[in-house]
Amino acid sequence: DTPVMRKPAWIRVKAPGNNTFDGTRETLRRHGLHTVCEEAACPNIGECWSKRHATVMIMGDVCTRACAFCNVATGKPAHLDPDEPERTAGAIAELGLTHVVVTSVDRDDLADGGAAHFARTITAIREAAPETTIEVLTPDFMRKEGALEIVLDARPDVFNHNIETVPSLYRRIRPGADFSHSTWLLKEAKRLDPAVFTKSGIMVGLGETDDEVESVMDDLRSADVDFLTIGQYLQPTRKHAAVDRFVTPERFADYKRIAEAKGFLLVASTPLTRSSYHAAEDFEQLKAA
Ligand code: SF4
Ligand code: SF4
Repeated sequence: DTPVMRKPAWIRVKAPGNNTFDGTRETLRRHGLHTVCEEAACPNIGECWSKRHATVMIMGDVCTRACAFCNVATGKPAHLDPDEPERTAGAIAELGLTHVVVTSVDRDDLADGGAAHFARTITAIREAAPETTIEVLTPDFMRKEGALEIVLDARPDVFNHNIETVPSLYRRIRPGADFSHSTWLLKEAKRLDPAVFTKSGIMVGLGETDDEVESVMDDLRSADVDFLTIGQYLQPTRKHAAVDRFVTPERFADYKRIAEAKGFLLVASTPLTRSSYHAAEDFEQLKAA
């Protein structure tokens, strides 16, 4: 166990609980879906679900990786549910979302890393909710040749893959992943489909320095990433990596200014920024940029 650092005053979250929140939960439950909002114990759930924004997590709630910051259970995942793409699409149509983020656990156990399941989910959403723009937040598909092509062939509007942290912390924070593979994946996505918006994000407060944060910005720009998110890491339980520092809102504003100067089309950088936070509003801005 690691000691828990007291949260500063600027990490304030709205309590869940209005009719829309309950309706969102009911729709997701009825379609038998997992969300990263719940699995990651996201601090924004009160706000997001009250606006029907939920981020669906496909391919189960057990992950083959064990990232030190992540609240998702590690183990041997169950078989893929062939009906999940349709159920996901049904829930999204019912929620009436203008933009949806679909993510997943890592499925190193599957030959294609789950790429075909992602593609089927995108296709099912297009059929059930043709007006909804689709953002996929995918695993790194390490050693899954052809997986990225399968996902992109289904034509998501945004391809998102989180780099999560700086390279020096990968071994401790993101074991099983590889920084240069992840930046390659992002660059390759843009190369394969220049029309897709690419997006990535990091958490701060895991032990990185500000110089390292700026260096990651450069790496992501070199990978042609359009949209960068930066948020404060919060320790989900005492068993997870400890918070190293709470970055002030002013410093987050500095990151945003610095990243914008480096040429990202869009940067979201606040303590409570998450990869899927305000994704719908941000996508509108991205299209206009
Ligand atoms: Fe869910 Fe993302 Fe909102 Fe968190 S920020 S509650 S993960 S949609
Ligand atoms: Fe969590 Fe994703 Fe890491 Fe799995 S790969 S442990 S879901 S962050």
